[in-house]
Amino acid sequence: MYKKYFTVSFDDGLEQDKKLIALMKKYGIKGTFNINGGLLGERGTVKRIGNLAFQDCGEGRTSGAIIKYTEHNRIPGDEIAQVYAGMEIASHSYMHDWLGKLPKQEMMKSINMDIDALEKIAGYKIRGHAYAKGSTSKEVQAYLKKEGILYARGIMSSKSFCFPKNPLNLRPTCSHITKEARINGLIDQFIKAKPLKEDMLFYMWGHAYELDFNTKEASWDKIERLFDRIAGKEDILYCTNAEAFTAHNN
Ligand SMILES: [Zn+2]
Repeated sequence: MYKKYFTVSFDDGLEQDKKLIALMKKYGIKGTFNINGGLLGERGTVKRIGNLAFQDCGEGRTSGAIIKYTEHNRIPGDEIAQVYAGMEIASHSYMHDWLGKLPKQEMMKSINMDIDALEKIAGYKIRGHAYAKGSTSKEVQAYLKKEGILYARGIMSSKSFCFPKNPLNLRPTCSHITKEARINGLIDQFIKAKPLKEDMLFYMWGHAYELDFNTKEASWDKIERLFDRIAGKEDILYCTNAEAFTAHNN
């Protein structure tokens, strides 16, 4: 008997995750939070133009555009276990490193230091990863697998409901910032679908700070409408990333 899984994945371990988790609990949604063990408690802001966020933006890019600022404050280490109880903590590299571009020794060190820091806090084996800036390579994927990582997520949408052939190069179904009509279409398609030939996965990702943008595409109201639309269906399993991949593999 094949099954349908719905899961979400949010990055960077931000203060906004607390509000997001409260909303997820209201709708019975579960998910995974990808955290940089070397940046816990770090405070900062992100610049954005519309729905596009930049850590740094050069003059050329900003001239004539309206820049807004959103808080990007990371949850301190001593709060992590409590905030994410009932959800899954996964790795995101130690210092938000572009793993695909690092020399091999540094790449391995970034992965191991992150996993070690998170396992100490979480008290369980870390099973997942999300690539910072989507940066990966065959070498990175092989090393994550060797370290016991089941799945690792990139940032390019697939707009599909298939479990990936290579779970270490997972493409999410969509970002929460995708146009609402488009996501509604995907949700409705998923709700109607019957998993007759294989398991199905609806996987939505993002950063909770984007919900503060309060634009048409990225807002708290919008994500609540999406949760409301997908929630409470008898034949959908609402679970963390690791739960979905573990169940799918068994
Ligand atoms: Zn990130």
